[in-house]
Amino acid sequence: MAKWYLPLVVAGLFVVAGCQDQQAGSSVVTSLPQPSFTGPNMQPAGPAPAMAYAPQPAPIAPAHVATPASHVGARGDVPAGWVPVAATAPNQWQWIVIHHSATPTGGAAAFDKMHRAKGWDELGYHFVIGNGTDTRDGQVEVGSRWPKQKWGAHAKTPSEQYNQHGIGICLVGNFDVSHPTDAQMKSLAKLTSYLMKTYHISPEHVLGHRDTKSTDCPGRNLNVALVRRMSMQMLADAGEQIPADAQLAAVARGELLTDEKKH
Ligand SMILES: [Zn+2]
Repeated sequence: MAKWYLPLVVAGLFVVAGCQDQQAGSSVVTSLPQPSFTGPNMQPAGPAPAMAYAPQPAPIAPAHVATPASHVGARGDVPAGWVPVAATAPNQWQWIVIHHSATPTGGAAAFDKMHRAKGWDELGYHFVIGNGTDTRDGQVEVGSRWPKQKWGAHAKTPSEQYNQHGIGICLVGNFDVSHPTDAQMKSLAKLTSYLMKTYHISPEHVLGHRDTKSTDCPGRNLNVALVRRMSMQMLADAGEQIPADAQLAAVARGELLTDEKKH
């Protein structure tokens, strides 16, 4: 299963284009290098208003970056291309942002062309999941950014936090008018569960593009809550812990209040 990713990565001409609202791509490129987004302006982005990110989600694990060895871990069944090479500079991934391409057909190569035509550096997404048109139904293509652990160009917001630290996954299709296939959903859940585990991303940080800004992406027929559930189920079935948002978990247990009230 891993084999077909490699030639793709090597080819390096990926990419995709996806949802229309990626906006001014070229400005993404030029404006990205501002590492100051971790400040207090974290927006409540998600579907769950309860989880105000105000106090930034407590760092859950020492690092969101793992060595290749730990990537493989107990779930060594993931394609090799999903595991960034050791030499790449780490990126502290905090979100997974799901998109649809808003096109009936496509694949990484086609979207790469589209994004470059807009003046972007390369395919904006990190992964593309095919629908049986340009690539197999459910096939996961690894975008050229991923091996480099490069920031994404898929979820532009004023703070750029989702581009800087969000892993962009695009499913081929227009899910306002059609539905993701079972194979796409399964691949998405497998990929998402792997990324959640590897980078300690909690289910609350698995978002649809529309959770980051005003957009229809990834379409009304892609159920992001279902993706979260499927991914958590996969982790549970594999005996893996489901990454928790430390802050939320503490609030749920009343611990944050307890500390202050206790004395
Ligand atoms: Zn999108």
